[in-house]
Amino acid sequence: MLILVLNCGSSSLRAAVVDHASGKRVARARVERIGEAGSEVAYDDDPAAKLVAKNHEEALAEVLPALIGRAGDAQLAGIGHRVVHGGERFTQPVRIDEDVERAIAELVPLAPLHNPANLAGIVAARRLLPALPHVAVFDTAFHGTLPPRARHYAVDAELAKKHGVRRYGFHGTSHAFVAARAAVHLDAPLSNLRLITCHLGNGASVCAIEYGRSVETSMGMTPLEGLVMGTRSGDLDVGAALHIGRAEGLDYDGLDTLLNKKSGLAGLSGAGNDLRDIEDRAAKGDERARLAIHVFCHRLRKYIGAYAAVLGGLDAIVFTGGIGQNSALVRHRVARNLQIFGAHLDEDANREARATAEKPVIRISTDTSRAHVLVVATDEEHAIAADTAKLVGGQDKVVSKRIPIAISARHIHLRQETVETLFGPGHKLTPLKDLSQPGQYACAEMLEVVGPKRSISGVRVLGPVRPVDQVEISRTDEFFLGVDAPVRDSGDVRGSPGIKLVGPHGSVTLEQGVICARRHIHMAPEDADHFGVSDGDVVEVAIDSEGRDLVFGDVLIRVSPKFCLEMHVDTDEANAAELKPKDEGALVATGALATPLRRVLR
Ligand code: AMP
Repeated sequence: MLILVLNCGSSSLRAAVVDHASGKRVARARVERIGEAGSEVAYDDDPAAKLVAKNHEEALAEVLPALIGRAGDAQLAGIGHRVVHGGERFTQPVRIDEDVERAIAELVPLAPLHNPANLAGIVAARRLLPALPHVAVFDTAFHGTLPPRARHYAVDAELAKKHGVRRYGFHGTSHAFVAARAAVHLDAPLSNLRLITCHLGNGASVCAIEYGRSVETSMGMTPLEGLVMGTRSGDLDVGAALHIGRAEGLDYDGLDTLLNKKSGLAGLSGAGNDLRDIEDRAAKGDERARLAIHVFCHRLRKYIGAYAAVLGGLDAIVFTGGIGQNSALVRHRVARNLQIFGAHLDEDANREARATAEKPVIRISTDTSRAHVLVVATDEEHAIAADTAKLVGGQDKVVSKRIPIAISARHIHLRQETVETLFGPGHKLTPLKDLSQPGQYACAEMLEVVGPKRSISGVRVLGPVRPVDQVEISRTDEFFLGVDAPVRDSGDVRGSPGIKLVGPHGSVTLEQGVICARRHIHMAPEDADHFGVSDGDVVEVAIDSEGRDLVFGDVLIRVSPKFCLEMHVDTDEANAAELKPKDEGALVATGALATPLRRVLR
């Protein structure tokens, strides 16, 4: 499928016709200085063409036909628009209609520099190419899985809610793309990896990816927070900003310009924002340039250490972006002291490594390094094309089946050995009542779960016995018991906290096993065909209840011939949605996207 990918900045635009599967560019155009007297457009075969364009619509009116002409006879299947801010609402790519356009406009206050330009491109392109499907792919979407603890700032909760003040994270398309590439290179499913991806370009951010989900990232409500960037300060004591504002008589716009445009590497070095120049100056003894590099690398190393703690372990660190893919110096400095996390740099490999489209993944850790260090070429246009193709390709699918919803109360799965410790030697679980999933049953046996703070008695054991012990609780239980349980797929207890179980015969203190089960849908392969999804996909489900209509995001698809169609939510989620027995959900067609990149790259 050929997809036109559009990325509109305030005075520039990039357009490319991209093969969604290979990422190959069929044609490209880049326009600079839109709105100024001498706008310029560069095509691959004509790098300095003339253009007069007062705005994005005029620029696109000229560039799109020229670009499509260059793509030859090939038919475009759709248009993918990069949109920086998707706010709370967009955690997946979405087909653009009037309502979506309006929502992107409403998000302008959250991204005043970016969303207006993205929107101008959307409006113009939809007017010029109305017959084609247009899709918005959001920089923030991948971070829709940030847990509340990472999402919230410690400010007045009412004010934060009123003004959408929370951490959203950016560069999500790139973090997701390089994570997928790293997983393919490591020959391991993303769902088995704890990754720290460092996107280091003119804008820079770092992301902690726990088994495929973004759980922390350094950019916040805006792309200003976090790492030192080309011209952005990254983390700064807000008190320092207030002080500079007062002392220099700067108003909010003045501070905005100072922190977004005149800080970072440029502000520290006094030598512009391009790291190549700063590295050259540093090599010649320029102290400001040296300090800029020190601060840049120190900040990133600090984040990697913090994120390793957030993840509770580390399988790979990924460097990407103009700096990450090219600067051996930065990678070397950042990797110092990361041996503590099992990451050992191979200095020779690092010196040579330059990730490119031709050689997109290079390992720069030693053979014995427990955590891999990879240099991975990012390709946001390819990622946007893949996301768009997935959505466009699935458009005609009729997804009609309703999904029954089951509310799962807290429960326990046990190994046979644990059963015997708790209930006595040779004890076999006693089936009490069949559950909806074939072969699964509630048992007569119950246990007391003893947490660090309180305990809960009468917790039901489910059968049959399993290979690992697992205690599934709700968020409310988590706080009641005083245990810090991660959201996980059932069966995945890696790195989760342990807990004490007390039975009639004895007690067991599990080393790990307490999780909050992730929302999921069990389905048979025929259902997966009907919905156009695969095992491991992540979808959205609209709930049609008498209580409160809402959409559950981040719902995992689990496919097996042993399953029958049913969505499982926990008691907290059911209460929030005012769900009752026999309520049903419907798959949101536009959200049935999940992991297009992983599939494309596989
Ligand atoms: P990006 O925003 O991802 O295109 O990255 C652009 C930035 O990457 C430039 O501003 C440079 O600072 C940096 N960069 C590109 N090539 C090199 C290189 N060979 N060495 C150091 N930095 C580089």
